Amino acid sequence: MIELKHLNKSYGSNAVLKDINLKINDGEVVVIIGPSGSGKSTLLRCLNLLEQPTSGEVLVNGQSVSGKIKPEIVRKTRENIGMVFQHFNLFPHYTVLNNIIHAPMVVKKQSKEQAVEKAKELLQKVDLVNKIDAYPSSLSGGQEQRIAIARALAMEPDTLLFDEPTSALDPEMVEEVLEVMKGLTKTGMTMVVVTHEMGFARQVGDRVIFVNDGKILEDDTPEKVFNSPKNPRTQDFLSKIL
Ligand code: ADP
Ligand code: MG
Repeated sequence: MIELKHLNKSYGSNAVLKDINLKINDGEVVVIIGPSGSGKSTLLRCLNLLEQPTSGEVLVNGQSVSGKIKPEIVRKTRENIGMVFQHFNLFPHYTVLNNIIHAPMVVKKQSKEQAVEKAKELLQKVDLVNKIDAYPSSLSGGQEQRIAIARALAMEPDTLLFDEPTSALDPEMVEEVLEVMKGLTKTGMTMVVVTHEMGFARQVGDRVIFVNDGKILEDDTPEKVFNSPKNPRTQDFLSKIL
């Protein structure tokens, strides 16, 4: 379980996150929506300790992992919380296989054999076994993103964070990536997904969180947030994207 308590994050005088209180329970699929610049990416980066809060706390399984924390604990925590980005961020000079086995071998000290075996299993999961020796530049955006998901899964994280994973894709490729993500929700993986895909949110989200100007304005079931939001700002936002 990951918990944010009274978390604030500022860049200089720019207060980006304001008194964020949030619990992500094991196995939950939490969808985060909100306008551009509202702090969604910053919130994800606080969850996996890529950013340190200006004040407040990040707790993982009840243990504080913010403030003055041993680098060892930060490293372990990050290993357990994977991240998938809008722009895939695959290593362009590595084949698909090497993209997937790199971190497990370097960070988890897996043998090459072990890492390759796992990679093949994951390539099956994202239906790209035939691309094992391909370079990212030869893949479509949808394929690249499925590889990026396989790469994140190779670290065997408890939690996966997705930052607008389909926003950079051509429309016809969105569905194949969402299908892989939907498959993951059935494995019991804890997922936090920033997305504008409301169909996905409704279909597989346990909770939807609406972030506006650095504050959480809604945190409820998809049905409540979409059909009877508490805050007029939510209605306004939804009317623009739906
Ligand atoms: P969103 O993902 O909702 O579009 P972000 O979290 O990326 O929003 O950004 C929220 C605000 O924080 C923006 O005003 C942005 O300019 C600012 N910001 C984000 N990252 C940084 C950074 N590393 N340094 C300075 N300002 C940043
Ligand atoms: Mg963002």
